[in-house]
Amino acid sequence: MATYFHAHQIESDRCTGHLKCMHSCPTQAIRIRDGKAQFSQELCVDCGTCLTVCPSNAIMSITDLLEEFDHFKYKVVVPTAVLYSQFDASIHPYIVHLALKQLGFDAVVDMNFSSSVMAYVLKQFLEQYDGPLPLISSHCPALIRLIQVKYPGLVKQILPLDVPREVTAREIRKTFPQKLRLKPSEIGIIYIAPCPAKVVSIKQPAEKSTSWFDGVVSIKDIYRLLYPHVIAIKEEFDAEKDVPENFSFHSGWAQLGSTIRAAKMDNWMAVSGLDHVMRVLDDIENSKLRNVDFLEAMTCMLGCIGGPLVVINPYVARANIIKQAERYEREVEFDKVKVEQKFEQNYYSLEHPILPRPTSFFDSDLVTSIKRIKERDRVYKKLPHIDCGCCGAPTCLAFAEDVVHGEADVTDCIYLTGKLDGSPILPRQQINPE
Ligand code: SF4
Ligand code: SF4
Repeated sequence: MATYFHAHQIESDRCTGHLKCMHSCPTQAIRIRDGKAQFSQELCVDCGTCLTVCPSNAIMSITDLLEEFDHFKYKVVVPTAVLYSQFDASIHPYIVHLALKQLGFDAVVDMNFSSSVMAYVLKQFLEQYDGPLPLISSHCPALIRLIQVKYPGLVKQILPLDVPREVTAREIRKTFPQKLRLKPSEIGIIYIAPCPAKVVSIKQPAEKSTSWFDGVVSIKDIYRLLYPHVIAIKEEFDAEKDVPENFSFHSGWAQLGSTIRAAKMDNWMAVSGLDHVMRVLDDIENSKLRNVDFLEAMTCMLGCIGGPLVVINPYVARANIIKQAERYEREVEFDKVKVEQKFEQNYYSLEHPILPRPTSFFDSDLVTSIKRIKERDRVYKKLPHIDCGCCGAPTCLAFAEDVVHGEADVTDCIYLTGKLDGSPILPRQQINPE
């Protein structure tokens, strides 16, 4: 079985066996065993929902610490518009850049350039594309993993283009060593992430062998270090004098609908939030969604500004980012002919296609899989079908799969064993007449 990196862990000592995480997990990756939550490595899609719902704060994100980059001779940090949105609109994004430098980064490279280039590349791609529709955006890694695990038939509809953050890091890796006369390995490129999914996309990308980034810190961690610097710089800051001529800011792809707006598309649809995204993916799978050529989907509500590793309320962040865009955004200029040439050479394409993620319940051998499904259905028939969660599985069907898989025993069902009040086993019909 493949091993998967995940950017969160459950602290058993703190876990109180609450069922909230289990019931909110979109892929039914969580089980409660011996009173403690645990998650399946293969089913977890890194959406981060469990981190936000755990009432005991027992689920911790795993990101790099700033000290871990000290061995690099030169450190380049790549912030996103989500970081700027954590500050109110009176904070010029350039103040955030200055504050990042005070934290020890040697250079700050915004994703504005790559975001604009990739919006243009997307338009070029759509003009040539004649595959199945709708195409599905690729910049939310939790969405990609959700499709790999729960909607394997839709992987071929994921946009096969690289994302602005990776394109930015690749450009830095190409240009900075020459400019600085340093070896590429002496330059550390660090991303600031709003979610565990982006951490995972850097540590173990689904679409390439390695990321162009060397590490990743969370917005949450950097925000508390950054805040005092931002406030102090703001005191003395004069935008007229202090912002360099060549500084440009773009609100980027942080918000829902920004890809669509940037690429000026027709027949699009934008959806955010896991439940909504899954409803739309169900509709696509069942051929119920028509006249949509492009779906922009982000698993967090309102997009990355609603990520699990951000600090402020996403609606406040949304207001901030809209105002920042109105005040500070500038159109980015780039050489379209050069971009078109690189596009023709597949420079912006994913390194390898995104494939479905196999799960161990469904064997690669069809006969074994069918046998398992029949066995699961046989167990399931005996269960009460009330999805109470008392067995430690989120649904009776998931419990039946666990039994067939040897990870649970049918006697773990309190209704079948009468564990609640010591009464004898009830016939299923008596529990659920249907
Ligand atoms: S990160 Fe998401 S998919 Fe993974 S265990 Fe938590 S809720 Fe489930
Ligand atoms: S919507 Fe953005 S913040 Fe949320 S999981 Fe996807 S990439 Fe991460």
